[in-house]
Amino acid sequence: MVAEALVKVPFYSGGRYLREQFPFRVFKIAIDAGFNCPNRDGSIGYGGCTYCGNASFSPNSRVPRAPIAQQIADGIRFYRERLQGEKFIVYFQAYTNTHGPLDRLRQVYDEALGYTDVVGLAVGTRPDCVPDRVLDLLARYAGRTHLWLELGLQSSHDTTLQRLNRRHTYAQFVDAVRRAQERALRVCAHVILGLPGETREMMLETADRLAQLGLDGVKLHHFYVTKGTALERLYRRSTVRVLTLREYVGLACDFLERTPTRVVVQRLTGEVAEPYVVAPHWGVTKLQVIHLIGEEFRRRDTRQGSRVKNCRLTH
Ligand code: SF4
Repeated sequence: MVAEALVKVPFYSGGRYLREQFPFRVFKIAIDAGFNCPNRDGSIGYGGCTYCGNASFSPNSRVPRAPIAQQIADGIRFYRERLQGEKFIVYFQAYTNTHGPLDRLRQVYDEALGYTDVVGLAVGTRPDCVPDRVLDLLARYAGRTHLWLELGLQSSHDTTLQRLNRRHTYAQFVDAVRRAQERALRVCAHVILGLPGETREMMLETADRLAQLGLDGVKLHHFYVTKGTALERLYRRSTVRVLTLREYVGLACDFLERTPTRVVVQRLTGEVAEPYVVAPHWGVTKLQVIHLIGEEFRRRDTRQGSRVKNCRLTH
């Protein structure tokens, strides 16, 4: 929302979406509910994705995990005091938030919804971790609250997913989206631009493929290398490179031009804690990146959706 005060954004921002949906100021509180990830605990693999450094992007996983109640209470206090927040969506962010028995899922989702001022849930997970019984459960929650299912994809190219040790395929993502849509769930896809081995054409192909799926939201960020990850070793051996700021701004515009206008752009840049970053070091804030993307759109005289191909879902 602050970003839009700086620049009238030529894309469907998360701030605009929340203002359209709610008559009060709504903020997302990211929490770590204590789940693990099947790609780390041995359920499907060990070691995780090669770029995975959850502590770098999930503030709550940097410190010993506080009880969920405390994380939510702290989040509510922060947004109330700093930004006059009125209502809140609890974002289950860290690791894989559907990786557990149904009773455990129910317990944590119910706990979050137990707060009067919590008006929604956002559940981050992997596309191979949403069996029908989990989607049925989420659909029941969607009947009583504002619910988003956030699926980590990163790329639609299986070669890239393999290189990253994601241990799922694009087909599994498409299947998860379809089954979620059959239950009328709102689905947001996470995508990383600038992944090792990906060309501009491959990234735009991901945008074109996603444009056909009828997604409700997308979260983009640039590829970055964080400390202690498998990718850090490759980066130090100079076998992978990261984007320049200028390259990322151009690619983000390219991607959004191919994204239907109905898709809410919930994130446009990564929020990495500086001590964890190996590269890139752009020296700009998140708001400055968003501002540059807005400027690039104006320079091109384009906007989100202006290059969507043959998509009946563009409106
Ligand atoms: S799916 Fe997410 S939490 Fe699991 S290893 Fe990959 S990046 Fe880490």
